[in-house]
Amino acid sequence: MKLNSGLIALEEDYVFAEVRQRVQRFSAQNPDRKVISLGIGDVSGPLCRAVIRAMHRAVREQGRRRSFHGYGPEQGYLFLRQQIAAALTAAGAPVQPREIFINDGAKTDLGGLLDLIEPGSRVLLCDPTYPAVRDDCRIRGLEPVSLPAVEADDFLPMPPPGDPDFDAVYLCSPGNPTGAVYSRDQLAVWVDYARANEILLLFDAAYAPFLSDPALPRSIYEIPGARCCAVEIGSFSKLAGFTGTRCGYAVLPNELSSRGIPLQALWARHQSARTNGVSYVVQCGAAAVYTPAGQRQTAKAIAQVKENAAVLSAALDAADLSYWGGEHSPYLWMKCPRGLSSWGFFDFLLEYGGLVGTPGIGFGPGGEGYFRLSAFGDPSRLREGGLRLVRAMDYLR
Ligand SMILES: *Cc1c(COP(=O)(O)O)cnc(C)c1O
Repeated sequence: MKLNSGLIALEEDYVFAEVRQRVQRFSAQNPDRKVISLGIGDVSGPLCRAVIRAMHRAVREQGRRRSFHGYGPEQGYLFLRQQIAAALTAAGAPVQPREIFINDGAKTDLGGLLDLIEPGSRVLLCDPTYPAVRDDCRIRGLEPVSLPAVEADDFLPMPPPGDPDFDAVYLCSPGNPTGAVYSRDQLAVWVDYARANEILLLFDAAYAPFLSDPALPRSIYEIPGARCCAVEIGSFSKLAGFTGTRCGYAVLPNELSSRGIPLQALWARHQSARTNGVSYVVQCGAAAVYTPAGQRQTAKAIAQVKENAAVLSAALDAADLSYWGGEHSPYLWMKCPRGLSSWGFFDFLLEYGGLVGTPGIGFGPGGEGYFRLSAFGDPSRLREGGLRLVRAMDYLR
């Protein structure tokens, strides 16, 4: 049997496994010291009451013959697609329900959408970036091409000069790990570039709920022309704490096509071949996010994470460290002080602060010398984390 060589070649998730190992070793050697993690890329929950109520109701329906739901539409229930379309439209990005495809979380389709392009094609990815897309390229026989995201550009790279030699580009704004946010004008340059060169733009809007400045775009479809070249991926994970409940969506506009082939129909065909859709109960829970109570409750949870991020920002300011993000994002991306490497700073922070973060190099070679802090989690734990960070930095002086 000939195994998938791209799959075999995936380097192990070395950085994240190594973080776990180093923390375990430290805790074993220092049983009296309680480690605080600022490395978590997960929400702390719980799901809000509006979502829980809707899911309870849906479970009861599933328990009665006359309200039972079997296989649903592969594309997702219309009731949820209507809510998502209305929310995007209200935000200045007009979208129709037929253009929305519900999935069990963004990660599934970030990879799956790459099936739209021919194996062997090249995909442009920022470095550093969310690692899942790079791995997905390799598994699917696509070649990831790296686009350096550097401090001088505030980690917001623009299209590379010269003729493009790739077929798709993945952008995430607000970004993970850097928290950097593209402006409207910058995204307009990307959209024009993608249209002029017939490049598929995959836009990851998972962190759009953290944007607090209305001048910043929360959807790529706020940009003229984007409907002809861009797929947008959204998620309920960070919006409403669905990381363990699983729901997201992809948007494929009517106008999106390549050489006369409409991508929306092609994707519908792909989905009917690959999935039987997302659980009815979960889709009912996701739809409840758009009720007035759901909107209030999810906004409150996001406001808490943003408050946490402000606490971490204040700590980084007090420690006189350079950092990005944290304003429209749960992540703060800091430069390791004193020229330390990502791992050097990791070890220092663990030893002198009992703190855990994520070494920047885990997001690509371009992340070396940087470090990601996450504002997800309990506010009092985050406050303690901020104090420890400031105290630890005294040892470097
Ligand atoms: C968390 C996250 C998502 C959401 O993923 P789900 O599969 O929906 O949980 C998408 N993109 C990025 C960059 C993320 O960090």
